[in-house]
Amino acid sequence: MQVITANGEETEGLAARIGSKCQGGEIFELRGDLGAGKTAFVKGLARGIGITDSVTSPSFTINNVYQGATRTLQHFDFYRLTDPGVLAEEFKEAVFDPMNVIAIEWGNVIESILPKTHVSVSIATLPDDRRSISITAPRTLAYVLEGLA
Ligand code: ADP
Ligand code: MG
Repeated sequence: MQVITANGEETEGLAARIGSKCQGGEIFELRGDLGAGKTAFVKGLARGIGITDSVTSPSFTINNVYQGATRTLQHFDFYRLTDPGVLAEEFKEAVFDPMNVIAIEWGNVIESILPKTHVSVSIATLPDDRRSISITAPRTLAYVLEGLA
């Protein structure tokens, strides 16, 4: 699917609708330039999952874990990382736990261990505050996009 959002709140809202459909075990790979809105999307996912803690946008390497009532959001940001080091192990463990919804920014560095079955989110910057967001999900994860556009 492809959607154009007019501002950050719309991007978060779209992601929140997707997050509310997540059961655990979903992986989202987010692509887009710095400032495109990848973290905004993760904030929306968190809201949709029912997480009340605020998701931060540090622009440095992190694995932040946000605990929801029934699901956990694991937010990985590999910005400027050329070697995932210990985070590769953390990532593998996160994938192993079916409670987790995983969101990844700048994931090129873990491409070799990224499960093939993941949702791809690509955000392109348009004039003004608009963003073109294209989301593709494999058949087994198609339910996260159900009812959207
Ligand atoms: P990234 O994680 O991709 O580097 P962030 O999500 O941290 O980007 O920042 C995106 C910034 O752009 C935020 O300040 C957000 O409010 C702003 N913004 C403006 N329009 C949009 C939009 N349509 N979608 C997402 N973010 C937007
Ligand atoms: Mg970010």
